Amino acid sequence: MLTRNENGGSGPALPARIKRYRFPEPVWVTRPTMPPLEKYQEHLRSIWETRWLTNNGRLHETFERRLGDYLGVEHVSLFCNGTIALVVALQALRIHEGEVITTPFTFPATAHVLYWNRIRPVFCDIDETTFNLDPARVERLITQDTKAILPVHVFGTPCDTEGLEAVARRHGLALIYDAAHAFGVRCRERAIVASGDLSVLSFHATKLFTSIEGGALVSHTAAQKERIDFLKNFGFADEETVIGPGINGKMNEFQAAFGLLQLDVIEGEIANRRRLTAVYRHELAGTPGIRLQEDLPDVEHNYAYLPVLVDPDAYGMTRDALYDALKSLNIFARKYFYPLCSQFPCYMSLPSADPKNLPVAERVTRRILCLPLYGTLEEEAVRTICAAVRELGAAR
Ligand SMILES: *Cc1c(COP(=O)(O)O)cnc(C)c1O
Repeated sequence: MLTRNENGGSGPALPARIKRYRFPEPVWVTRPTMPPLEKYQEHLRSIWETRWLTNNGRLHETFERRLGDYLGVEHVSLFCNGTIALVVALQALRIHEGEVITTPFTFPATAHVLYWNRIRPVFCDIDETTFNLDPARVERLITQDTKAILPVHVFGTPCDTEGLEAVARRHGLALIYDAAHAFGVRCRERAIVASGDLSVLSFHATKLFTSIEGGALVSHTAAQKERIDFLKNFGFADEETVIGPGINGKMNEFQAAFGLLQLDVIEGEIANRRRLTAVYRHELAGTPGIRLQEDLPDVEHNYAYLPVLVDPDAYGMTRDALYDALKSLNIFARKYFYPLCSQFPCYMSLPSADPKNLPVAERVTRRILCLPLYGTLEEEAVRTICAAVRELGAAR
């Protein structure tokens, strides 16, 4: 009998019939899509020739334009990373006091950027199936101090953008999307990053689309983009004019070169992840206690992650025990996102962080596990991972 405690550690040693699924080399939860090295070397040569390393270089300008074309949005600003893009998004809309309603089920940066802007995060519970903010719950948390809503399209699944838009409009609130997971996602033929007042992408090495480190901020008007571009460059409007307290959020030419080349390989990467997701769904269908997300109607998904929910009673093992067992097979799944941001010491004393207010997020964070998914993962490896998951559950 393997442990049934939801927070329990590892169970007893694995039976031999499961050990045969052990991989000789580690299988990581993700691996970056690498563009052809020769093409990157060509860009390096041009950087050496021009000696233009950062500050709106040729590669930066080309990448920014081509990224906008790819995403189907007019105004996009490149950043050194997604976190600084989020900081600047709040500054661009002059949100630097009061409260912002956000999700606890996300990467720490979402909550931290509020703290860095002197804003009190207000954590709101999530939807059972999308794991995203629930507009009805958001509306109940609005107070005199609420300035904005900061939802996350977690795992690339689109938020209820219409519902959130309606709430924001009714109460005169700004709506900034953390779209770090949502590169290339389209909803009714429209880029999800076109939603809200602003949307922020991350191009970190662990993300679907990467520029090593990097990010982007999608805005709606030329004036908005101009303000954002000033703010990411210390507030400089020209050599002698500083329009406000900006920061250094610029993307350099080495990142831009990498990002530019990613645009050529991203379609293939998404297609491969879609194919592997189908294998996961087929192989794990009907496994008691294991639930996968399904495609939503009218959505072009990006298959950035492969999250599964582990119901410990039906599966016969906790998420933590499954995580440990997979690790012993050299399969490095990740507990995205555990713990909840609301459980970090810096936020846990906030009234909204009380677990009683966040029952769905609390349940999901204890059950969620992201399995390995990246374009060059072999289908056979996915079948082996799924066989291990099926048999570990059946081993009780
Ligand atoms: C990765 C991530 C970020 C931060 O992006 P960086 O580019 O690493 O700074 C922000 N929010 C979410 C949801 C993320 O997953």
